[in-house]
Amino acid sequence: MRSLFFAIRQKCTELWRRCTKAPDALAAERRRSFEIMAEIYLLAFCLQAAVAPLMFLVDRPLLGGLNLLCLAAYVVALVLHHRLFVATALTIKLCTFLVFVIVGVAVAANQTSLIYYLLFAEVELMLADLRRRTKILVTACLIAITLGVLHLPPLHGTDATSSAVDTMLSDLGLALVFVMLCVVILRMLAITDHHEHRYRSDAMYDSLTRVLNRRAIFERASVHWRTQRDFAVVLVDADHFKEINDNHGHTTGDAVLYHLATLLRESLRGEDSVGRVGGEEFLLLLPDAGKSDSIAAATRIRDSLANHPCRLDKVELSVTLSMGIATSDEGLHLRDLIELADRRLYAAKSAGRDQVVAEGYLDTAASRNAQRLAQGVERALETDEA
Ligand code: GH3
Ligand code: MG
Ligand code: MG
Repeated sequence: MRSLFFAIRQKCTELWRRCTKAPDALAAERRRSFEIMAEIYLLAFCLQAAVAPLMFLVDRPLLGGLNLLCLAAYVVALVLHHRLFVATALTIKLCTFLVFVIVGVAVAANQTSLIYYLLFAEVELMLADLRRRTKILVTACLIAITLGVLHLPPLHGTDATSSAVDTMLSDLGLALVFVMLCVVILRMLAITDHHEHRYRSDAMYDSLTRVLNRRAIFERASVHWRTQRDFAVVLVDADHFKEINDNHGHTTGDAVLYHLATLLRESLRGEDSVGRVGGEEFLLLLPDAGKSDSIAAATRIRDSLANHPCRLDKVELSVTLSMGIATSDEGLHLRDLIELADRRLYAAKSAGRDQVVAEGYLDTAASRNAQRLAQGVERALETDEA
């Protein structure tokens, strides 16, 4: 029973997502409005589908019929919306909705409730992906309709029983307007969060390999540096990568890069970071790792690559890695550290590739250790003088 409930819920969620998801080709800045409006059409459909039987039950066939017309109009609007005829879709939705509420208001002889419905139509209009001029023009029409209806002579002509039913219907309508507003605003916030998260992730991650991009990994390195955290940087470069492209094509080269990035990520700890800093070059940040820890991590990566080479269509594409390591106590500035790791990477290449270099090429005067030592000596001297 529980699993049936979950299966139905999952199907409904999938269907909802399929109906409201913006097409991939749609520009990023139009996606939010697209999805909010699609959700409004669906929500309006669900709410009016729920109240439609009630109209017939309380003997209001005209309202029931108009309600069914609205449901059909909302389906047409959603289809047109998906084909990006957003203005036509909204016009159909608003026109049928207005006819429905104006007739409803006339039947219930309660003109004031029209204000709430028109207020909601105004919210829809503002959220839609339309030109500002169109929005202002339609707003003027909505104001004119509202004032026009409110200044009509009071509508009469219902007996005591029907008037109780009509009051109930108009109260229900107003309650639904508030429910709809609340749901729309909550969904709008959720959609906005979702898109913000997506944009942020697009700005931080490399689209091919899904590891951090160059800017994000250097930003993270500078945070480690500023907070005086001990860490190691490892520059990793694939050996003779050009040959893979030349022999197997660029697409295969891309697949190998993806494989390498995944393997790097999986071989490291949760607090370590991997970023792509060049074509076939990656930068690793290993917080709290000293020289021996980072050499161990580099060895783990090379072993892992040897055990899991990239296989495409049963063809094994063997690739090796060269690495240069530097630790945060070896430079005065972050730049020095990266340069040192780069010099060691170059040394690994010159020494025949497929190896790790973690020593040498250090300008000791420019090391953070040397600076700390100097500061320590100065402080000790100051204390002695005091
Ligand atoms: P070395 O061992 O000296 O590093 O040799 P290499 O061939 O790996 O280095 P080189 O700098 O000569 O060539 C790097 C190659 O990486 C050339 C370039 O076409 C390829 N490359 C860079 N970015 C991408 C990419 O995004 N996808 C693919 N498939 N190839 C890329
Ligand atoms: Mg290379
Ligand atoms: Mg390179």
